[in-house]
Amino acid sequence: MRYLKAKTMDHVTYDIRGPILELADSMEEQGEQILRFNIGNPAAYGFKAPSELMDELQLHLSEAQGYSNSRGLKQARIAVAERAAQKGIVGVTPRDVYTGNGVSELIMMSMQAVLDRDDEILVPAPDYPLWTSAINLFRGRPVHYICDEKADWYPDIDDIKRKISPRTKGIVIINPNNPTGALYPREILEQIIEIARENELTIFSDEIYERLIMEGEHVSTAALAPDLPVFTYNGLSKSHLLTGYRCGWMTLSGPRKDIKSYAEAMDVLASMRLCSNVPAQSLIPAALAHGDATRQLYMPGGRMWEQREIVYNGLSAIDGVSVVKPRAAFYIFPRIDAKRFGITDDQAFALELLKQKKVLIVHGSGFNWPEPDHFRMVYLAECDVLSEAVRRIGDFLGNM
Ligand code: PLP
Repeated sequence: MRYLKAKTMDHVTYDIRGPILELADSMEEQGEQILRFNIGNPAAYGFKAPSELMDELQLHLSEAQGYSNSRGLKQARIAVAERAAQKGIVGVTPRDVYTGNGVSELIMMSMQAVLDRDDEILVPAPDYPLWTSAINLFRGRPVHYICDEKADWYPDIDDIKRKISPRTKGIVIINPNNPTGALYPREILEQIIEIARENELTIFSDEIYERLIMEGEHVSTAALAPDLPVFTYNGLSKSHLLTGYRCGWMTLSGPRKDIKSYAEAMDVLASMRLCSNVPAQSLIPAALAHGDATRQLYMPGGRMWEQREIVYNGLSAIDGVSVVKPRAAFYIFPRIDAKRFGITDDQAFALELLKQKKVLIVHGSGFNWPEPDHFRMVYLAECDVLSEAVRRIGDFLGNM
């Protein structure tokens, strides 16, 4: 056959926007009403970015017509470097900052910059699936380490050690985590860093939910690992409710001699795509100055706090479902007793829930979870909608 897609694409998936979403869209076109809990997109649930930021955008729009420096506007990179210093990451200069069209683009660019064929990267299971797919796309090998549900979904340190091989080049840490909502304590990060140190690994720390914390304190991995090369990712999508603006950044920290080659590769890749969206970049200094724009939402009485209570209590009360309470971000990753309900294919489970109860969630294997016994629910919707969804999920399981 002549007209075939690249074979690499067989291992590149993104189920969050896969077949279940297609079915939901077609059901809606036929007039059905679907309750959607599938995508971490606050604007779709009525959240609005701070009005000062919208004013700021107006101010900068007319001067943001041209391409910028490939790494990003100087003022934006200065603001990111200052923020890195506040988080305790030493030595980050504006030269070490790259802006991107969302963290997504920077994940792709950095995997492309770092990977040779069959290089192994340790990735959490469950993960945010772009990581696994980006590694596959650039012909590396994702090797999944387990996060332990019984230990608040923290990474299983022994499993990480077991999975190191001579080909292991790096490790991905997603903290706070999507899809589990876990926030890792300093000691866990220190143990992972020690493994990285012993095995000369590069660390990729995805911290996009850094400010969306309900309990605990966020520690940046790079702040604990000044002696190692660390890529740290963040952006405006979640903390400033601006997913549509596609605004992310990445810092490269660690000893100069160890990050030099990565920086060369990132510079070329950044230049090849010219620059990231300039109006969005122009917001970064003001956004970082208004860093705690979403803080209230995550405090007791705040909208996100209350929604977490509803969804956590509701799901925990369903017979055959157990849940670890998330501490950060806006995801929950409940366990369903797959044996008891006879579930062997979790995507089929999600499709059936959608067809019968008009509730859209994403199956756990879409996050590279190895068993068919979890799903992810986004709890950005209002409390009454969440209560109704939890009721329907309980009904559905009750009839299985
Ligand atoms: N990393 C994680 C863990 C995410 O959950 C997401 C989006 O949901 C991203 C990165 C990508 O975010 P963006 O491209 O909007 O910056």
